[in-house]
Amino acid sequence: MTGNLAHGVSMCLKKCSRCKITKPVTEFYKNKAQRDGLEGWCKDCSKIASRKYYSKSPIRREYEKNYLREYRRAGYGNKADYKTRNIEKILASRAVERALHAGVITKQEVCSECGIKLKVVAHHYKGYQPENWLVVQWLCHKCHMKKHRKLTTGED
Ligand SMILES: [Zn+2]
Ligand SMILES: [Zn+2]
Ligand SMILES: [Zn+2]
Repeated sequence: MTGNLAHGVSMCLKKCSRCKITKPVTEFYKNKAQRDGLEGWCKDCSKIASRKYYSKSPIRREYEKNYLREYRRAGYGNKADYKTRNIEKILASRAVERALHAGVITKQEVCSECGIKLKVVAHHYKGYQPENWLVVQWLCHKCHMKKHRKLTTGED
C-alpha cells in the first residue's frame, strides 16, 4: 500500500539542467517566465553558481569591503534592536543599488515568483548579512510582501 506513495510523487519531479539530478519541484525556485514555472537549475545549483560568481568578481569583493566598513560604522553588532535591523536592511539594499549601477549584477525584468512584469525589488532571501548582500531574488511588491509575511522568524 505504502509503495504507491513514491509513484504518485513522480509527477512533481524535475531534472536540473545543471547537475542533471532529478529532484522534487520544491528544490527549484519558482520562475513564471519559464514554461513550467520553475527555474531550470535546482536551488543547490543556483546557490553554487551565485557563490562562484561572487568569489570570481573582484568588483564584487570590493563592494563587500566598502560596505563592511559602512556596516561597522553604522554600529552593527552593538545593539540588537529594531534600528540595527533596519541598518542591515538599508545597507543591503544600498549594496544592491550600487552593484546594479556598476553592472555587477543585473536586475530581472519579471517577478521570479509570479512572473508578472512589474517593478521588481531585490529580496534578500538569505538575510541581510554582508556576505548575502548581493544574494537576491527579484520580486514584485505583492510577492515581496507575501514573502515577508511568511518569514515568521521576526525577519523584517
Ligand atoms: Zn542542480
Ligand atoms: Zn510577483
Ligand atoms: Zn525582502
